Formats: sequence, C-alpha cells, structure tokens
Amino acid sequence: MPKKSKVFITRCKDYHLDNVRETLRLSLQHLGGLQRFVKKNDRVLIKPNLLSSREPEKAVTTHPSLVFAVVEEVKKIGGIPFIGDSPGGTEKGIERLWRNTGMADVSEKTGAELLSFEKAGVYKKEALSGKTYFISRQAIDFNVIINLPKLKTHTLTLFTCAVKNMFGVIPGFRKGEYHKEAPKPKDFAEVIVDIFSLVKPQITIADAIVCMAGDGPSSGEPQYLGVILASEDPVALDAVAAKIMGFKDNEIDTTNIAKERGLGAGELSEIEIIGENLPDLFGFDIKLPSNRFLRLIPKFLVKLLAPYIWVRPAILDGNCTNCNICVENCPVKTIHPGDPIPVYDYSNCINCMCCHELCPHRAIYLEKSWLSKMIGR
Ligand code: SF4
Ligand code: SF4
Repeated sequence: MPKKSKVFITRCKDYHLDNVRETLRLSLQHLGGLQRFVKKNDRVLIKPNLLSSREPEKAVTTHPSLVFAVVEEVKKIGGIPFIGDSPGGTEKGIERLWRNTGMADVSEKTGAELLSFEKAGVYKKEALSGKTYFISRQAIDFNVIINLPKLKTHTLTLFTCAVKNMFGVIPGFRKGEYHKEAPKPKDFAEVIVDIFSLVKPQITIADAIVCMAGDGPSSGEPQYLGVILASEDPVALDAVAAKIMGFKDNEIDTTNIAKERGLGAGELSEIEIIGENLPDLFGFDIKLPSNRFLRLIPKFLVKLLAPYIWVRPAILDGNCTNCNICVENCPVKTIHPGDPIPVYDYSNCINCMCCHELCPHRAIYLEKSWLSKMIGR
C-alpha cells in the first residue's frame, strides 16, 4: 500500500506565545523535528500570509506569535531565518504593514530579516504546464521554505491555505497580470498550482487558531478553531483544512489540480490525520463565502442565467477613505478615481475580487442581483 501523507492537528487554545511555542514544538516533533529539514547556516524563508496591513486580531494575516515561535526554532538549529511576502496593495505602505501585522516586532526581537518580494527583481521560471512565471528573486534563494498560511475563506478561490499562500512569491503588479490572464476561478487555480509547484515549501504549519469565515480573505469574520495544522504535504494539509471549514469533498480547485498533477495527496482517503477530537473539528459550522452558490449552478445554466444571477464588488461609501488602493490594483483598470469614492465600470470587470481582497477598510462588499439574493440565502 502506498505511504499516506500525514497531517498533524494540534490544539492551541490562544495566541499566547508560550502556548504557541508548545503547540509548535509538538507539531515539529510529529514531523520528526525541524532538524530533518533545516541544517546549520541554511537560509530559511518563513512565508506567512501578510495580505494587507491589518492587526493580527482581524484574522487577515498569519499571527506574529506563530512566526515568532518558528523563527526561534530555526535559530536554535543555527539556520538563518528570513520573513518574506509580497503583500497586496502598494509597496509604499510596506513599513506600516510590517508594523501593523506584528512582523516588525518579531524582527526587532529575533533579528530575523524582513523581505518584501517587490524588490531585487525576478527569476523567470517555467512550470510543468509550459507557462512561464516571474517569481521574486527574494523568494527563491533559500535552502528551505517554511510555509505559514492563515486558514481563510476566499471569494475567488473559495478557500486559501497552504497552496494559495505561495502565490505571494509573485511581486505585486504581476499578480494582477496573472489574474487578467486567467479570469475564471478554475484557470486561476491552475496558475496558483503552477506557482506552488515552482516554490514548493518543505514544511507547512497553518495558523488555524482563529481562521476567517464568510467573505474572506480580508472582509470576513474571525472564527475561533483553536488548532495548528502541520504537514510536509501542503496539498494534504489543504484537503484536511477544507474539510474542517465545511467544504464538500473535491470542491477546492487548487487541491484537485495539485492532486491531479501528483503534487500531493488531495483525497482524505490518502491522508492519515493525526490529532485530537477530529469529529469535533469536522462539526464546526463555518460561514462560507456568500458567492459560493454560483459554483453550484450547473454549467449549462450559467450562460442562460448570467443576466439575472450576478455577484459583484461595490463600495460602501461610509467606510471608504478614497485611498485608491482598489483603483491602483484592479488588473483591468475598471475602477476609476472619483469623488467622494471611486467608480466602477462593470462592463470590463473580470470578477477577480482583487479590489474586495485589498481594500484595507472593508469598504467593498459583494452586491447581489435579486435572484442571487434569493438563491444564495
Ligand atoms: S473602496 Fe477601499 S480600497 Fe477603494 S478607495 Fe475606498 S477604502 Fe480605498
Ligand atoms: S473591479 Fe474588482 S473584481 Fe472587477 S476586475 Fe477590477 S479588481 Fe477585479
């Protein structure tokens, strides 16, 4: 019988550093110890999800306690830790982002260097699909990658965790280009898996102490789960995490595609889940993205119903500060500067949800047609 991928689920009651340290110690023990992966003087990239400049309690970004504890473990072995990501939005706000997400504090206290993947150029890499990608140089030159995703819902990909987190190795504006080239969720999932395959992490430790429910990855609500997931197989970790969130089997495109390409185990039957009170974990009633119902409509009806069933981003002017981050980051430039708020031209919108994802003030919500409201209730 082929060896099963293992996913370890360990309880962690809160983000108190001592509790996270202990949970991480147990998780790494399950994985056979960090020294299996990291050797003395290795350059180690620690890749949290730092989507936007939000405080840790908003559940948009990987919690700094977990990043801190991982840096400590790397240093114990004599590895050289770096914390890196290409956060959404503009490079202008990077210092504020490091500060707000708690990463500046981690860096100051541990000496781990912070890397913004916007700088230092790119490598051109070809994926097995034959497509080429421009990946940040800052994200490539490492002996080991430790992936620290945040478990969240996602209005475009339904779900984001281990595989999707590696999309952050693409520098800012190029992310928009890939959205433009692959506007359909399934095509975009192919792109994510391509990129993941080019920078596959050796270990994944997912922050699911507080996950994000509802219209993630930035406008949903924090939801307590109280666990950390760990695995050498990010695809298997995603399959288990999606199950915990309440998605149906085989509902997550990135997991299906990665499984088909042999990049990991995507079926629960191929995974050994080791952890505590698993039935309890699979019983959470987590609010999933409000546009998820669109995926459940049979394909032959989609075109027919398109004029009546739609979900699109719209601005709540009471929350909008007119910062123009949505305008600058729309890959098809279909949001225009306006006063007092930007204005959408929906005729070109590809529904990539980048504006919804990157708005730092939760000013963008999902507007629904009357039929969508009825069906998606
Ligand atoms: S909607 Fe959000 S991102 Fe766009 S201008 Fe308003 S506050 Fe900024
Ligand atoms: S308006 Fe928003 S959803 Fe539409 S293409 Fe632009 S960023 Fe994407």
